[in-house]
Amino acid sequence: MTDVPYEEWRARAAGLVPHTGHHIGGEFTGTAATPVVSPRDGKTIAHVASAGRPEVDAAVAAARRAFDTGPWPRLAPAERKAALLRWADLIERDRSTIALLISLEMGKPISESYGIELRAVINCVRWYAEAADKQLDESPRTGGSSLALVTREPVGVVAAVVPWNFPLTMAAWKIAPALASGCTAVLKPAEESPLSALHLAALAAEAGLPPGVFNVVNGPGEVAGRALGEHPDVDVLAFTGSTEVGRHFLRYAAGSNLKRVWLELGGKSPNIILPDAPDLDAAADTAAWGIFFNAGEMCTAPSRLLVHRSIASRVVDRVVARAESLRTGDPLDPSTEMGPLVSLSHHARVMSHIQAAKSDGARLRTGATADGRFIAPTVFDQVKPDMRLAREEVFGPVLAVLEFDSVDEAITLANDTDYGLAAAVWTSDLSTAHKVSRSLRAGTVWVNCYEEGDMSVPFGGVKQSGHGRDKSLHALDKYTDLKTTWIEL
Ligand code: NAD
Repeated sequence: MTDVPYEEWRARAAGLVPHTGHHIGGEFTGTAATPVVSPRDGKTIAHVASAGRPEVDAAVAAARRAFDTGPWPRLAPAERKAALLRWADLIERDRSTIALLISLEMGKPISESYGIELRAVINCVRWYAEAADKQLDESPRTGGSSLALVTREPVGVVAAVVPWNFPLTMAAWKIAPALASGCTAVLKPAEESPLSALHLAALAAEAGLPPGVFNVVNGPGEVAGRALGEHPDVDVLAFTGSTEVGRHFLRYAAGSNLKRVWLELGGKSPNIILPDAPDLDAAADTAAWGIFFNAGEMCTAPSRLLVHRSIASRVVDRVVARAESLRTGDPLDPSTEMGPLVSLSHHARVMSHIQAAKSDGARLRTGATADGRFIAPTVFDQVKPDMRLAREEVFGPVLAVLEFDSVDEAITLANDTDYGLAAAVWTSDLSTAHKVSRSLRAGTVWVNCYEEGDMSVPFGGVKQSGHGRDKSLHALDKYTDLKTTWIEL
């Protein structure tokens, strides 16, 4: 939360002067020509530079130089740690400004950009900074006349292409472990959310990260994102975004230098409530919070509520009541619980899912109304597994409720999806919890909670939700190569 009042946030927004160029080799460059429109009021916040291939080439060249001949990969890990900790301190110093930029560019309520997103970003950078000097290499036991070393080396230039829904958290989950490992990086934020990323780059320079270690280029995915995906000098491409664009990155890699591609993609996560849930009201409240948090623009959103028929009406009535009590409004008002959708085109896409649910015969319980850039929290029940609302990711505040009669049926329904990012089960029975968790094909399973965790646990999907793992010490493996050195003594 934030103690700063609404008027103060509005005054600060009016006085903001965001960075607008690309950040390449430690400097801002480029002509700011592309408008960044705020979903808050449709007004242009700033213009930013937009990269074509030449700017992407320049950013990759800066990262390449910084990796091949610069100090960063050669520093003692403790020195990289110190630099990353300075960066985290500066992010904390500018926490309000960066939170404001996020709320303005993508519409997240300020209490959440300040209280949740910035906390996560600062924590992530500190966590990987601290991890930098605590990694050990291996020396397997070999015969008396030889010595084997298995060492991890930084992979080189990492490109990160990220979405707008958690613009800096998604970036930090990739950039922090990459830099801690000794790699250099080029970040391409989403077109909707370039300003917060540029502020991060300015702070990296202020923290003393050598030029070229962390670069930011803005621009359309099909141009700047594609150029990174196809670039012969990018060693690893870390992507978070839609499954459709994830496929492109695999093709780009196959058609270029076979760079490693790590994918964190979409979801259609099932949230199973069994009749023996420890607290049905808490389960219902969490189901509502989960789908409406961040206006449903969440890869892990529990968008399919699977509820046992015997408790369905009680649970769904409460979810509907929660939906109707949510405060939608200006993202800069600290009391706002749900902001507008990120853009008019995304708004239209979410409304088309609502239309489809109606014409497929799902029963509308609440919501489905559009007011400008907002969509009211929406709940459909009597959803059937073959309806579009049960199958496709909406990425908006729209819940599909499906009922079941047995645990086995719930598991079948839960796994009846192309995705496998997250899932949850609510039960008081320890064995049921473990059995269901083992049966669910998902990267994360929550028991009697949702969206819980911390930096120590990996995050990522199976099936068409991708295969990379962000967070935890495991993420460091994505940005390092194993090297074997065998010495005959
Ligand atoms: P998106 O796939 O449209 O865009 C993501 C990024 O890819 C943006 O930077 C965009 O510019 C770029 N891009 C778009 N088209 C491209 C192309 N042809 N070539 C190269 N780059 C391209 O996704 P979005 O709308 O920004 O975000 C929503 C999606 O992200 C949802 O599917 C959501 O589930 C997913 N997501 C996943 C996670 C996760 O960790 N699994 C987290 C957040 C969001």
